Amino acid sequence: MMHYLDHAATTAVLPEAAALACQVMTEQFGNPSSVHKMGIEASGIVETARRHVAAILNAEPSEITFTSCGTEATNTAIFGACRRRGQGKHIITTAIEHAATLNTVHKLEQEGFEVTYLQPDADGHISVSDLREAIRPDTVLLTCMLANNEVGTVLPVKEFGKILKKKAPKALFHIDAVQGLARLPIKPKLWNADFISVSGHKIGAPKGIGALYIKKGTRIAPLMYGGGQERGMRPGTEAVPNIAAFGEACRVRLEQMDENYAKVQALCDRLTAGIAARFSWAKYNGKHDIPHVVNVSFPGCKSEVLLRILEMHDVYVSSGSACSKGKASHVLAAMKVDHADIDSALRISFAPSNTEEDVDALLDALEEGTARLRRA
Ligand code: PLP
Repeated sequence: MMHYLDHAATTAVLPEAAALACQVMTEQFGNPSSVHKMGIEASGIVETARRHVAAILNAEPSEITFTSCGTEATNTAIFGACRRRGQGKHIITTAIEHAATLNTVHKLEQEGFEVTYLQPDADGHISVSDLREAIRPDTVLLTCMLANNEVGTVLPVKEFGKILKKKAPKALFHIDAVQGLARLPIKPKLWNADFISVSGHKIGAPKGIGALYIKKGTRIAPLMYGGGQERGMRPGTEAVPNIAAFGEACRVRLEQMDENYAKVQALCDRLTAGIAARFSWAKYNGKHDIPHVVNVSFPGCKSEVLLRILEMHDVYVSSGSACSKGKASHVLAAMKVDHADIDSALRISFAPSNTEEDVDALLDALEEGTARLRRA
């Protein structure tokens, strides 16, 4: 039996979302731009999905733009915010962002922007006072994540938004909420957010769909030009099946959010109790503020090798971030975790579909694997 504990990388499509996507692909397959009945029906499907995405983001439907993924949403927000005319050339971000953000601001650095990277403490937290000091009169954008994909820390976005808007009222605030969606309540108004990126495949929609919240009244240029879909912000014929599935996944996840959180918390508690009882020598990396992502090192056991042993038991976790295959984790490095501990770090990430059996299978497989590697 398969025990998949790598849901921060991606997760299974929810049956409700898959069924709807299939129906849209085979029956309601019109182009939303067509003016006949089939087109109007497809357009209605897109607008229903937009309402569901808006509901989970506590936003207006008109504030939601569908994109192909979280990365595209983030690129649209960052380039759009920074390339506004007559603005400054200073960006603030953190050293623990996903590559979708880091590589985008690196590109802007090459174009003459200056970037301040806020550093985490040993727990993986970013300090509010460091942000306060970093803000300058020419700051054009603050871009940071809500929840970290490697260690599960949550950033103080409410405080960040408040300070940014007070010290640099013209600067825009982008939040990458890809790992926070359907886990934490999203509060764009309270957080003073101008942009929020989310992705479908982390919450039970297919891969290839994301969305960007753009606060009403915020004007930015799109990344692409074409047929004017998504009010010109994201031209190209809409991926109606993926959009419909994303809407459906948001609807289901919003309904079950509290219940799912409690389920995942119980699984995380079972895992940490098991680790304490069986691997007292293991070391946690970061404080997992959300129970969905746990990062733990098993010193003396190279994670790449341990991963293969777990795989033989049909247990699937990740070493560091799945988005940076083979590279040492920049998040753990920024937290100043020892090289040896980075080398032996595993990321275990839950979905509400996981069971106690999954946790127990992982603990048993870890016991065998670590004993083998520590003996060697
Ligand atoms: N941001 C974070 C925090 C992520 O974890 C990921 C994916 O792992 C992304 C952005 C990119 O999302 P997508 O895979 O939809 O491009």
